[in-house]
Parts: sequence; C-alpha cells; structure tokens
Amino acid sequence: MQAPLMDRFGRLHDNLRISVTDRCNIRCFYCMPEEGGQYAPRQEILSFEEIARFTRVAAGLGIRKLRLTGGEPLGRKDLHKLVGQLMGIEGIEDIALTTNAVLLGAQAKALYEAGLRRLNIHLDTLDREKFRQITRRDELPRVLESIEIAQRLGFGPIKLNAVAIEGLTEEDVVPLARFGRERGIEVRYIEYMPLDSQGLWDRRRVLTMDEMLERLRGEFGELEAVLEQDPRAPATEFRYGDGGGRVGFIASVSKPFCLNCNRIRLTGDGKLRYCLFAIEEMDVKGLLREGDDAAIEAAIRENLLRKWIGHEIGAARFVPPPRPMYAIGG
Ligand code: SF4
Repeated sequence: MQAPLMDRFGRLHDNLRISVTDRCNIRCFYCMPEEGGQYAPRQEILSFEEIARFTRVAAGLGIRKLRLTGGEPLGRKDLHKLVGQLMGIEGIEDIALTTNAVLLGAQAKALYEAGLRRLNIHLDTLDREKFRQITRRDELPRVLESIEIAQRLGFGPIKLNAVAIEGLTEEDVVPLARFGRERGIEVRYIEYMPLDSQGLWDRRRVLTMDEMLERLRGEFGELEAVLEQDPRAPATEFRYGDGGGRVGFIASVSKPFCLNCNRIRLTGDGKLRYCLFAIEEMDVKGLLREGDDAAIEAAIRENLLRKWIGHEIGAARFVPPPRPMYAIGG
C-alpha cells in the first residue's frame, strides 16, 4: 500500500491540475500581454501519452480528481482524445475542464462522448464591449452560444468563473449572478490575483468576497453559507435564501484557503508545481521521456515535501511567480 500524498503540514493531496498548453485564443489583460507572450517550443509540450502516463503514476499515489486547464485547453487539437485516455485511468474519479468556451460549441459533442461532464467556463462580463476590452477579442457571442450548447447536451455541473476587478467588473457581479440563477449555473467569483506577466496587479483593485456578497445581498436578499462543503475546495459557497441556487467565491487574497490545499499542478511543458504561486518547480518531462515510473513517483513526493504553507500575497516578502498564469493554468 502506497503512503498517502501528504506534505509537511499534514495536507493530503488528491487533486491534480493539468495545463495542456500555454497558448490561448483570447488575451485577458490580467493574464497575458496582447503581443509578445513567451510560449514553450512545441516539442517541449507534453504529449497526451506523457500526460496520461504521469496521471497514471499520480493516481497510484492517491490523486483522484483532475482539472484540465491551459492557456486555453480547447486550443489543443483533439482534446477529447486525452479526456478519453484519462477517463480510463484506475483511481481517477472526477475530471473537470476550465475553458473560455470560445471553441466549446464546436467540440462539446466529442468531449461529452468522451465522458466529460464538469465544466468551469471563464466569463467576467455579459457586456460585449467590456468583454472585448478585457480579452482583446470580440468573442462573447460564441461563448454564450457554447454555454447553451453545453447545457443542451447535458454537461453538468457547469460553473462560471468570473475574475472580479475593482474599478472594472463590480457592475457585472449582479448581472452574472442573474444569468446563473436563470440557467441553474453556479457563478464563482475569483478575487484578482498577482499572476499576470506584466506586473499590473494592484491590491487596491481586488474586489473582495465580502464586497461582492454585499452587492448580491442587496439585490437577491439573504445568502447563507453552505456548511456541508468540502473544506479543501477552493471556493467558499453560499446558497440564495430564495432557493435561487448557489454562488461561490475564490477569495485567495482576502481569505486565503491554503491550510486546506490539496492541489498539485503539472504544466504544459512538464514542470511540477506544488502551488499556483510557487517560485520553484520540478521538471518531470525528462523522467517521462527517459525515466521509469518509480522516478516519477519519487519526484511527485519530493516536490510535495518542498511545499510551503501557502502563498504570501500581501506580505512584504511576497514575490509573484516567475511563470505567468497562462503557463500555469487555473
Ligand atoms: S495558493 Fe498555493 S497553497 Fe494556497 S491554495 Fe492555492 S495552490 Fe494551494
């Protein structure tokens, strides 16, 4: 029996986030530059077989949940084939996809047939002009159409991930919630984090969970905390008092949840990261291309033993990760 994947702080890790590419088809200003993004050479990007092999080894150590991310994962050709490979791995209980949904409409049927059900769709606003301003692409209509197609096909749960920025998206908090309530889609508001490649982040532009809750309560009345939720899940969830469903907050800045972290990450170019904000990372691509499974297991364990207690956003000694968000994945 393998020892559980535990770090020095006694946190059990069973959740693997897999970035399948660092490229994206939109350009959210808080994530990547409009021009001049630094991408890994294609031959450095892990093949589906290498990702599946890594996942098989990690599942043997206790990984149970997977999330496919990017860049934009649907920009990777035939992603449904990877989903099919991962679905068949013993021990894997759950697979989710985080996408900006621009390409989802065209790929939804193949992904659904491959067994995928859980979607997190990144959408910060329903205002077409503001969408274009944030992403530097005029793709809102395709995103909305993709959501309809995904719901019609039977994907679920579908959640919206909305990055909330003071001075830009506070007026979108209520319209997004209304959109979600009308469609049975849970909205997840994500506090703005220092993960962009240009160093634009400013603490004063963080729209906090409490500020957003106040707006939602002003519009929809009572919101009660959901007590029966997995304490290791990144989102803090609330239930509308009027039965209108749930809403969640990923309050990494105002209410860090690192003490319950259960996540490790694999980047598109084969680096293992014990934290979204990690400064150091460990190469496993070489092991996947030349090494054996025992060496990969050892790397996963060693990387986890280096894991810190949590990010230090707001502390004077906080250093943003050298790798930008689009090359880490959500
Ligand atoms: S910031 Fe790092 S340690 Fe904290 S919850 Fe996120 S991944 Fe885990």
